Amino acid sequence: MELRRCILTQNPCYQQGRKITPAGVMVHSTGASNPYISRYVQPDDGRLGKNPHRNDWNRPEAAACVHAFIGKTADGSVAVYQTLPWDMRGWHCGKGTSGKSANNTHIAFEICEDGLECEEYFQKVYRAAVALTACLCKKYRLDPMAGGVVICHQEGFKLGVASNHADVLHWFPKFGKTMADFRRDTAAAIEKGNF
Ligand SMILES: [Zn+2]
Repeated sequence: MELRRCILTQNPCYQQGRKITPAGVMVHSTGASNPYISRYVQPDDGRLGKNPHRNDWNRPEAAACVHAFIGKTADGSVAVYQTLPWDMRGWHCGKGTSGKSANNTHIAFEICEDGLECEEYFQKVYRAAVALTACLCKKYRLDPMAGGVVICHQEGFKLGVASNHADVLHWFPKFGKTMADFRRDTAAAIEKGNF
């Protein structure tokens, strides 16, 4: 996994700067067909490419923030960009029916969606997501197989700790993957040191 850094220091979430003790990882996907990380992450580091539309998340009017993005760089290769310190509280999942929020407990990343039809792109971002989650579980001594630790946004909703969104279960099953598979693949990656 190639992990690069572009911290979204102009995002009000970063500026607020609250800390968490990471207790899990939440997997999101963006819900919009644009696989390029530059849509969300700027400035261009020579690899991301430029977003001329002034709608990236590194600006004071941004209303959401996550710890990392997975998607394409300008040349079409898939990369992982860290966008917040891992122990900073993100703004990624709102509040759930229990009144609690995984914003207070979970590190979160977004996978940039394409048109959800390309298997090659899916396999690349899935592998990168497994590697990133394995890396974070190892760093914070988290068990990806334990209940509620590695979850997607939709699972967070069902657990009462996130707003009602479909991601990533509107996408992964199209290519035969469940979140149970994702957790198993993450555990296997940690075991093999494969990340
Ligand atoms: Zn989400």
